[in-house]
Amino acid sequence: MQLYNKLSAKERETLLEQAGEERLTLSFYQYAKIGNPHLFRNHLFVAWHEQDVLGRIYVAHEGINAQLSVPAKRFMEFKEFLDGIYFLKDVRLNIAIEQDLKSFLKLKVKVRDKIVADGLNDETFDVTNKGTHVDAIKFNELIEDPDVVLVDMRNHYESEIGHFKNAITPDVDTFRDSLDIIEADLKDHKENKKLVMYCTGGIRCEKASAYYKHKGFKNVFQLEGGIIEYARQVENQGLENKFIGKNFVFDHRRGERITDDVISHCHQCGEPCDTHTNCANEACHLLFIQCEKCEVAMENCCSEECIEVIHLPIEEQKKLRQGIPNSNKIFKKGRSEKLKFKK
Ligand SMILES: [Zn+2]
Ligand SMILES: [Zn+2]
Repeated sequence: MQLYNKLSAKERETLLEQAGEERLTLSFYQYAKIGNPHLFRNHLFVAWHEQDVLGRIYVAHEGINAQLSVPAKRFMEFKEFLDGIYFLKDVRLNIAIEQDLKSFLKLKVKVRDKIVADGLNDETFDVTNKGTHVDAIKFNELIEDPDVVLVDMRNHYESEIGHFKNAITPDVDTFRDSLDIIEADLKDHKENKKLVMYCTGGIRCEKASAYYKHKGFKNVFQLEGGIIEYARQVENQGLENKFIGKNFVFDHRRGERITDDVISHCHQCGEPCDTHTNCANEACHLLFIQCEKCEVAMENCCSEECIEVIHLPIEEQKKLRQGIPNSNKIFKKGRSEKLKFKK
């Protein structure tokens, strides 16, 4: 049986365009003890390949983290399959606001050490002793409380384009860094302040809240389902929306617009802009914000150097890349001295 993708991304894209059928972009995660992640991975791949599911899914001994798209007409079939797995029965599915036919082009199910690279040693604290989950209504109430400290648990390139009003947005490259910074900032308020946290879909807060409780914080709350679920509840229930800008997402769309506010700037000219892109030079692939004018002027590159590289013959570009570590980890970047307007 074929367990891996045969079609190239390009072929997938053409296929999807031809099919013209609606797909749902969604994500979910669950911490659960999985004895044999490889076996589970194959089980998922076989079923989802058959259901024409596309996406990026991580499986580990500690659980599953999935971002995927499903043909709308096969959604019930997909849901029944999930419900047949005991720890995924009625798991909360975050369904994206903007439906996009091409949010994923392949099905990738990977076995990892962890479902989120959080840099934590889980043996040192009780990961099941989590903070109190709050929905959008309760969250809106809570963050008006003067004793609340609202913290954004995401990285700099995420909060840069959108965040909750009055949130602390640590200028960090990794989740691990933000944990220490926040703890140091709040070390004198572990008992008298309420720590309220949020992230994209809630998964990072599952660990962070347990970590802070272990560190002595008495009142820890987390936004259930993250910004994605918050935006859904705000829309469905007509609540006040306290998020401004765009929600950064990890598929090719890069961001999901929540409000029309543009709170960030083009990293090259400084004009208001909140569109992320990756540098066209494959060896660079820097994640940065670029306006349409600069995209044209800079040929979708981050720097003059990268423009020079993309004009070299492909073979020479490949030679230049030799010995340079694969820059696939595009979300770990997002800073460069060549970007005039990136702090
Ligand atoms: Zn610009
Ligand atoms: Zn570049």
